[in-house]
Amino acid sequence: MASFSSQTKLEACRVAVRSDCCRRAELYAMMRFCGVIGINRQGVSLTLSTSIEPVAQRILSLVRRVFDAECDIRRVEREQLNRIERIEIALVGEQAREALLACGMLQETDDGGSFFEDGIGYRPMNDCCMDAYLRGVFFACGTMLPPSKGYHLEFVLESAQLASDLCDLLYSMDINAHMTVRKEKNIVYVKESECVLQYLARIGAHNAYLQMEDERMIREIKNDVNRSVNCSTANINKTTNAALKQIRAIEFLEREGVLREQSLSIRQMAEMRLEYPEASLDELAQMMNITKSGVNHRLRKLVHLAALLQGSEE
Ligand SMILES: [Zn+2]
Repeated sequence: MASFSSQTKLEACRVAVRSDCCRRAELYAMMRFCGVIGINRQGVSLTLSTSIEPVAQRILSLVRRVFDAECDIRRVEREQLNRIERIEIALVGEQAREALLACGMLQETDDGGSFFEDGIGYRPMNDCCMDAYLRGVFFACGTMLPPSKGYHLEFVLESAQLASDLCDLLYSMDINAHMTVRKEKNIVYVKESECVLQYLARIGAHNAYLQMEDERMIREIKNDVNRSVNCSTANINKTTNAALKQIRAIEFLEREGVLREQSLSIRQMAEMRLEYPEASLDELAQMMNITKSGVNHRLRKLVHLAALLQGSEE
């Protein structure tokens, strides 16, 4: 089974790119973030690699559209990596030079010389291009944890300058990014749920987005239950937080006319909670003459029901 990262890349591969500016943005991002420069007697070369066939096909078609060029393509098997195939796509000679200048990896100086840029080089200008650019960056060096493991999107880079430039670019789009170093690689990562979701939405990975959202809701409800279970009279703050959530849920169900359709025991529970917002589960249990787990079960049902009807974590 494909990893969540690969699935997300496959999904993003199905996004159609409609304008030339966006095609350039996506391709330049891939070149900048996974392109490897080679120099030999024939001149310079730029090699992009991926393990996903549709991503390779996408690179080929973008190169065709943007540079009107054909590339060398090579499939590499690496036995030590469980024979995972890597697909290498290379531009050579004048075409490589043209591509390197376009994506800003190669800069020309006033006196006719040139140098390789360590930083980000080309930056997308339009909002439409930003989305395409983020998609390119994700294809090139992005990975993410599956939704069940939490929110974590990361980009693995050789250059510290490039990592820092990517952080700045993400910041400018209200995506909070952080930097760290792992095994001599520079890692840029995003871990706030809102930011990870925003990234997925922008690159057009809507299924991945929905899977993440679902998982978030489930986790939210579980946390809620744990919070209720852990409550004790000595822990007023926790009690208040859980109670507040229960009260909001009950008020919502009341407004929507759903509460009156519930069983008597559930309605009584709701009434007690509204009447004694600060009571602990133990206290409620005593007042209602039922067990603490009975109270927990009923409150949990109310919160769960509200969450389901609201279709989100609220
Ligand atoms: Zn555009």
